[in-house]
Amino acid sequence: MSETTNLNIAVIGAGPGGYAAAFLAADLGMSVTLIDPELNPGGVCLYRGCIPSKALLHVAKLIEESHQAKDWGIDFAPPKIDLARLRGWKENVVKKLTGGLGVLSKQRKVRYLQGRAAFESSTTLHVTRADGSGESLAFDRVILATGSRPAIVPALKLETPRMMDSTGALNLEDIPGTLLVVGGGYIGLELGSVYAALGTRVTVVEMLPGLLPGADRDLVLPLHKRLEKMLDGILLNTTVASVKDEGSGIRATLKTQDGATQEKVFDRVLVSVGRKPNSEISGLDKTRVQVGPRGFIQVNKQLQTDDPDIYAVGDAVGEPMLAHKAMHEGRTAVEAIAGHKVAFEPNAIPAVVFTDPEVAWCGLTETQAQNENREVKVAKFPWAASGRAITLDRPEGMTKLLIDPQTERVLGVGIVGVGAGEMIAEGVLAIEMAALAKDIALTIHPHPTLSETVMESAEVFFGTSTDIYRPKRG
Ligand code: NAD
Repeated sequence: MSETTNLNIAVIGAGPGGYAAAFLAADLGMSVTLIDPELNPGGVCLYRGCIPSKALLHVAKLIEESHQAKDWGIDFAPPKIDLARLRGWKENVVKKLTGGLGVLSKQRKVRYLQGRAAFESSTTLHVTRADGSGESLAFDRVILATGSRPAIVPALKLETPRMMDSTGALNLEDIPGTLLVVGGGYIGLELGSVYAALGTRVTVVEMLPGLLPGADRDLVLPLHKRLEKMLDGILLNTTVASVKDEGSGIRATLKTQDGATQEKVFDRVLVSVGRKPNSEISGLDKTRVQVGPRGFIQVNKQLQTDDPDIYAVGDAVGEPMLAHKAMHEGRTAVEAIAGHKVAFEPNAIPAVVFTDPEVAWCGLTETQAQNENREVKVAKFPWAASGRAITLDRPEGMTKLLIDPQTERVLGVGIVGVGAGEMIAEGVLAIEMAALAKDIALTIHPHPTLSETVMESAEVFFGTSTDIYRPKRG
């Protein structure tokens, strides 16, 4: 293995893909410049995405649980919400983490430039700093980690603070009386849940026949049922044909698939219909980098673009647009640059929707298996049979394994329920380690925990689960 570590590297974009790449490059001994418009590294994930939304979802869960506590004989008074303090707490979480990354950059002697980069050639960048000053810098290699931004629907373009994308919604300017959420995906359901818990009457419209189109239907069902109780309405097969600012609210025309329309006025509207890659980088036409028809920068398995000196990682290169995928790509790109024999070809990338209950999956999904006509055995363990789930009064969850009938290898894992996002990591490890259903069944899981449901679903596959009874077939 030949190693090249005396290189001078630029990383454009300091989100999880960019800072992971920059830090590893520095750890391998490269000279690293990290360029981003924010004061510190963090990107969308830390400043306006994963981190602030998870802080708010934690609060939402607490409020929801305080309502449920009535069933357990504990009656809390309705919460008094100090919005300024809640916002302040969320901002402190962001500051702590982004500040921490700033310190880590300094400790690694990464040169952090707060500014924007434009290509002058494949290996020369012009960086315009936040204070307006600029400089041209030459590098051996450049890594693009420019991320993504919210997609815009032309019919929903309206210049008013009442219309929000995820950034606006996370700013939490007020607790609106009513909120229309356009798009029942990750962001719509996570932030819709936050506002609903804070007291807003939330309506979600989703153009497809079900929420979270990427997830298996049986995983979405328990979430859908709980959301039906929390939200004012979930309108499927529905889009928003137009919006009009009426001063005191936004009048939205909701249109179902069969053409029926209805008008409703909302205090605020959150548009969460997907994200677009940030691939319109200034001066990119001076390089050999190719951008595909959907706007993703084209890369090979080493994350190298068509320009051999330029690599690209994260949301800008393709789905799934998830921070953990970006981080691993960032590290792979750096290793490839260093001359290591590497490729980004994971068997499983976990997806987690941080609603309540959480929905998480990795590897093959049942829907995908059906679409590909792939024969799989599905073993499901209902949480109604889990002691831990009952003690939490959350029996609606379910854990399932997708298993290859010939080899008995675990190909996919899906979990819905509280804590599913933490538990899915075991599924990822199982898939990456090529675990067999027997390996999982024989792995002693601690009792009483929700993690036992993973082991129990493997037992379901063999028809020997201790906690449920399935008469043998035939
Ligand atoms: P999404 O792709 O998850 O969901 C968008 C939804 O909007 C889909 O269900 C789609 O069918 C629907 N839609 C599209 N156009 C519509 C229209 N005109 N009217 C009604 N519905 C419409 O996208 P998102 O929620 O905006 O999130 C963007 C991305 O950000 C995600 O795909 C994910 O990669 C990432 N993200 C991840 C997390 C997480 O990991 N927990 C959280 C938030 C965002």
